[in-house]
Amino acid sequence: MKKKAILLLFLGVIGLLSAQINKDQEQLRAIYDQALTNGKAYDWLNYLSNQIGGRLSGSVQAQHAVEYTKKQLDSLGLDRVWLQPVMVPKWVRGTAEFAYFETQPGLTTNVPICALGGSVATPDGGLKAALVEVQGIEDLEKLGKEKIEGKIVFYNRPMDPTQISTFTAYSGCVDQRYAGAMEAAKYGAVGVLVRSMNLRLDDYPHTGSISYGDTPAENRIPAAAISTKGAELLSATLKLNPSIKFYFHQTCKVFPDTESYNVIGEIKGSEFPDEIMIVGGHLDSWDLGDGSHDDGAGVVQSMEVLRLIKANGYKPKRTIRVVLFMNEENGLRGGNKYAEVAKSKKENHVFALESDAGGFTPRGFSFDCSDANFNQVKSWESLFEPYLIHMFVRGGSGADVGPLKDENIVLAGLRPDSQRYFDHHHAENDTFEHVNKRELELGAATMASLVYLFDTYGTVKPAKIKG
Ligand SMILES: [Zn+2]
Repeated sequence: MKKKAILLLFLGVIGLLSAQINKDQEQLRAIYDQALTNGKAYDWLNYLSNQIGGRLSGSVQAQHAVEYTKKQLDSLGLDRVWLQPVMVPKWVRGTAEFAYFETQPGLTTNVPICALGGSVATPDGGLKAALVEVQGIEDLEKLGKEKIEGKIVFYNRPMDPTQISTFTAYSGCVDQRYAGAMEAAKYGAVGVLVRSMNLRLDDYPHTGSISYGDTPAENRIPAAAISTKGAELLSATLKLNPSIKFYFHQTCKVFPDTESYNVIGEIKGSEFPDEIMIVGGHLDSWDLGDGSHDDGAGVVQSMEVLRLIKANGYKPKRTIRVVLFMNEENGLRGGNKYAEVAKSKKENHVFALESDAGGFTPRGFSFDCSDANFNQVKSWESLFEPYLIHMFVRGGSGADVGPLKDENIVLAGLRPDSQRYFDHHHAENDTFEHVNKRELELGAATMASLVYLFDTYGTVKPAKIKG
């Protein structure tokens, strides 16, 4: 009799569990169906890219993007939509940059360059100097001041093509761009030229932010990126003739900080409204292209997550917010402001997911959280198999959600296929036609599915030690 009761209880639990699994499978199916048949992400991205364009912090386009996305969120029937003010830096590129190298007086070859974000201008009339090619910042010390002073330092270490994650290859190179000018100035360089962060050989220079650290204003030297083909040509020419001169001209300028906004919308939780889950991307972009992959895609996917929840009539237990962060590219002011306000209001953020790796085919997520939470998340992986999502790994999440990190929160980043991302990243060809509608929609559905599962099961509380 007792054995029979235990058996029945056991079967009952199994039954409940399999009913829950069936329910989860059905919910995911409904999310993907809705995204693929009735999705709004692609239309929103079309407007953001083609009607507004590149959205550098402090620009008119960034302001238009704030107004447009707020209006679209207002139309979704969320419980609340608001703007969160944040002061942002304002850097303006100025007139088109121009560069050439001179093999002998009067014999010049033009190469494509662009100013790096935050750089100072060249002197009026441009800057002309001899070059010294290096493979990285560590070479500066070996060369010393006598070989660098008065020259333009040319950083030419390429991204490592053997890395399967192109983000890893990017991380292995980006110090040249970010800190190259600050470091070269210490040795008396007059300017820096950085090989674009791009695995492909082409003619697009790729911008991106730099830092001068605490270099005094009078010692700041101009920094530009050169296209990968330009870098190869320049390097080959330098080998034949190390005394060639390089000329470049750029008129970029920093203006005083200006007010902008994070755009936020939320659905209030029905059971645990004080547990907040967020999905987001960054609303600002570089100015050369229209910022479709970086990060227009993440913006519209995050908006789509909330639309999918509403469209499928799903009532979340926890509060779910979309946050469109301003100024990820050259300041992270939006991400820092959001976390600062959350902390001052003692809000309890339990989950934050960012999409900022392009609008390509989703492969999975990377998670920054406790072991217990990662084990739970990992147990959901098989639910995603029908959608060819198979990569649930530990790793970084996203720059904008990073400031929310504490020991309890689950931080996550959508991980799309990365092979083509750096063909477009921060360049003139980061444009709408390079985003595939289905890939974008699959990413949004994948994000919404994770949000649904996390809302259903919640955070795993760390085991309490008794005694
Ligand atoms: Zn980005």
